[in-house]
Amino acid sequence: MSAGGGRAPREAGRRRVRLLATGGTIAGRAASGVEPGYRSGEVAVEALIDAVPGLRELAALDGEQVAQVGSQDMDDALWLKLAARVQEVFDSDAADGVVITHGTDTVEETGWFLHLVVKSDRPVVLTGAMRPATALSADGPLNLYNAVAVAADPAARGRGAIVVLNDDLHCARDVTKSSTTDVHTFISPGPGLLGSASYGRVRYFRQPPHPHTTASGFSLDGIRQLPRVDILYAHAGMTADLVRASVSLGARGLVMAGVGNGNMSTAAVRALAEAAREGVVVVRSTRVVSGDVGRNIELDDDALGLVAADQLNPQKARVLLQLCLARGMERDAVQDAFHRY
Ligand code: ASP
Repeated sequence: MSAGGGRAPREAGRRRVRLLATGGTIAGRAASGVEPGYRSGEVAVEALIDAVPGLRELAALDGEQVAQVGSQDMDDALWLKLAARVQEVFDSDAADGVVITHGTDTVEETGWFLHLVVKSDRPVVLTGAMRPATALSADGPLNLYNAVAVAADPAARGRGAIVVLNDDLHCARDVTKSSTTDVHTFISPGPGLLGSASYGRVRYFRQPPHPHTTASGFSLDGIRQLPRVDILYAHAGMTADLVRASVSLGARGLVMAGVGNGNMSTAAVRALAEAAREGVVVVRSTRVVSGDVGRNIELDDDALGLVAADQLNPQKARVLLQLCLARGMERDAVQDAFHRY
């Protein structure tokens, strides 16, 4: 193992897994095992690996510290850096699979980004923890154990980015955080789980049906930064002010976390239609945790010039819209992408 990103030796019959650490609660430290307050991203990658008995028996492991942040501080620049690193690891044949340790707050966005842009069928596995590394009954070690088992599993190939926590495997497209504190926080509403892991024994329930990684039309090629896309949260009594503020601050895309089936107040609808006429691409998603947002249900998307998010929640819709805009796609092509991906 090396902290600086050296290459794990190729040993006959042994899979090579690169662990890219980014921080999060899995690397969090508290003053005691039962202290609720803690700081994210304090424990270094070598210590994370050393804390898991038997981890090195699963694969030849390399550890590398890519970032050390709470995932509330993940941003476009870090996504691009992380995705580029994953791509380099695979392109140089330095590992058969990658595990990314990550905070749980935004792992669904990072995983989805990687699912769309990484050009490899090798496993990209993301894991984290709800309890800091120092907690009584910390959940990180077993999550990491299962994540390495998935990354080392040839059967994980071709399934895109997989989020592994609490014995569950989720497709990065579908997973979302549903509880602020429960270790069973991740759910995949609608499509359901991708598989399960029990002390490193992995089972798969399905293949992700939508295009990803090698079959995705998106990649890192030519992308140095991502366009600004804001998410606005709809509520009773919503005014047009924040829509106008986003547009005047330079947003090239807007995602509405609408009420119900992607609805919002008449004032907000008018402002969004105006933004669409000015060339901003506007996507209607929903603040509701499950269910699709369809076109032309209560709102006439065709007349208003809006895009329906289909199955993507607001934070996932934002990622896809950023990638679409980075490729110069216009509204109709964006709608096709939301139906396809
Ligand atoms: N705020 C933390 C983070 O996302 C929470 C966690 O990791 O569970 O980094």
